[in-house]
Amino acid sequence: MGNYNSGRRSEIKCTEDCLSIDIRRWQRDNLLRVGLDFNRTWSCRGEVTATINVKIKLDQVRLSYSYRKKGSEWEKLDYSVKLQTTPCRYGGVRYWFICPAMGCGRRVALLYLGNKIFACRHCYQLAYRSQRKPLCDRKASRADKLRDTLKWEAGILNGNGCKPKGMHWKTYHRLVTAHDEHVNKSMAALLMM
Ligand SMILES: [Zn+2]
Repeated sequence: MGNYNSGRRSEIKCTEDCLSIDIRRWQRDNLLRVGLDFNRTWSCRGEVTATINVKIKLDQVRLSYSYRKKGSEWEKLDYSVKLQTTPCRYGGVRYWFICPAMGCGRRVALLYLGNKIFACRHCYQLAYRSQRKPLCDRKASRADKLRDTLKWEAGILNGNGCKPKGMHWKTYHRLVTAHDEHVNKSMAALLMM
């Protein structure tokens, strides 16, 4: 699961795994407050694999991180992603990212870090269900089985949940680690389509 913490670390080393940011989760966690500045961190086996710094502006978010492809130099990236809101049926608003990829501009809830920048699944040609590659499918369904044990909402794109009542922390951490590995492999398979 992604953690939010303060600090200045912002290096992304994990280029084979797919990293995603989810505006619905940021909204749920009450992070979409103008002026707020937080780090979004990904870990693997208890080790931080990637961190981006996020700054919330009036109608955009600013993303800063360093990125490198295998065997190349680190590259510093710093750019804004526009935000839009749509009214909810029962009051309030729903937030969306506007995909920053050139010529896209789609309104989406999730952006993926594929090749250097975050972009929507259309841009990375991420396909769901019928278009999935077998490896992606296999990994996703293994992750889903673990989600079931963890009593999390089905579907790897729904993010991670909490520890179920009565489960030992040790068991919980073991299951989450296995889950995250399947998710990363599944997303990596999608990105390579
Ligand atoms: Zn896009």
